Amino acid sequence: MTGLVSNGKISTSTLGESVRPDFPILERRFGPHPLVYLDNAATAQKPRAVLDALVDYYSGLNSNIGRGYYRLSMAATDAYEAARETVRRAINAEHADEVVFTAGTTAAINLLADTFGRSVLTAGDRIVVTGMEHNSNMLPWRRLCETTGAELVVVPVGAAGRVELERFTAALDPGVRLAAVAHVSNVLGTVNPVREMIRAAHGHGIPVVVDGAQAVPHRPVDVRDLDADFYCFSGHKIYGPMGIGVLYGKRELLSRLAPYQVGGGTVKGVTLEEPVAYVPVPARLEAGTPHVAGSVGLAAAFDYVEDLGWDVVRRHDDLLVGAAVEALESVARVRIIGDPAAEPSGIVSFVVDGIHPYDVGGHLDGHGVAVRSGVHCANVFIDTFGEVGTVRLSFAVYNTEAEIDLVRRALTTVRPGFW
Ligand code: PLP
Repeated sequence: MTGLVSNGKISTSTLGESVRPDFPILERRFGPHPLVYLDNAATAQKPRAVLDALVDYYSGLNSNIGRGYYRLSMAATDAYEAARETVRRAINAEHADEVVFTAGTTAAINLLADTFGRSVLTAGDRIVVTGMEHNSNMLPWRRLCETTGAELVVVPVGAAGRVELERFTAALDPGVRLAAVAHVSNVLGTVNPVREMIRAAHGHGIPVVVDGAQAVPHRPVDVRDLDADFYCFSGHKIYGPMGIGVLYGKRELLSRLAPYQVGGGTVKGVTLEEPVAYVPVPARLEAGTPHVAGSVGLAAAFDYVEDLGWDVVRRHDDLLVGAAVEALESVARVRIIGDPAAEPSGIVSFVVDGIHPYDVGGHLDGHGVAVRSGVHCANVFIDTFGEVGTVRLSFAVYNTEAEIDLVRRALTTVRPGFW
């Protein structure tokens, strides 16, 4: 894959090398080895543009927002709302007030479970999730079921490691009040047919929450095209800061939600006699001082990726996943789980027969390679493969084919160890 892509900004085959200088942490070395960072599904590294946005915010704008009748506070408020608008545009939401800033995907889903979930569920009702969910899109619904007497229905994942539409549709019986599904698996990178799943659920009047944590870093997400009722993601996985995330919700649904946490910023006025009058969303759902710098950093991250061009980023993903599959297939005893090349999304998971994934991870670390090994917070999904865990390579714009070759070479000398 060579040559300039259509927008002419950057050659796909050189994207990794050309953006590496943007990421200061990639200069780190571990002993003689340069850092090869392949744990991007856990969190991505931050480009200078994002780091600068944070420093600029704290050095030039820092003040509390929404409550100060002075220019600095008003400028900080404007920066926060401008970040909301950048996110709106990036995910093609219709209105900026459909974007609620949260601490991340986990926080967004917990917010939904405690507000929306609680408002639509009673004992005997059902919530549908899939067998590939990250614990963050499983446990909040499970706990909600425990406290309401509702039932959690888990749609099993098909042999290809993705949810089969027919199986999902078959689970949508009249008792189902809500479905919560992953857009992309954090273990295998497989992409679910969420658009079709949402359409099927809507055919039964069932609203759908999408966990987009692993989709947003790898593809332009259009919440209106998906017709998602709610869509959640984390900033830190798309080169943004930790501690900032997004809950998108359709305006008519969000505006019905009771406050999740109450306190400063959520009320019009408070007296001891009158019922409390809450402000509209999104502020009603953002109690307390928000992560203003984080939102500004997240906007800078979206700008950074959009500047590279999504078509370039997607092709780079395809290239790296293809190269990783080829490299891993050439190493004895390595077994790739699922079919990552079918619709690449920046993740390849594998096992080395006879060697615990932790030992493989530790061995790679000895070569300066950072990968995730284990169950990836998706215990139920891992159980379906009959493995104790996997080793996960997950890619970002700064990764290169040379790094994948280094992994291949290191794997040829891996031996069973402590585990
Ligand atoms: N959902 C998926 C699919 C994930 O991969 C992750 C994180 O790895 C989460 C949810 C939780 O994200 P966070 O820890 O940023 O809240």
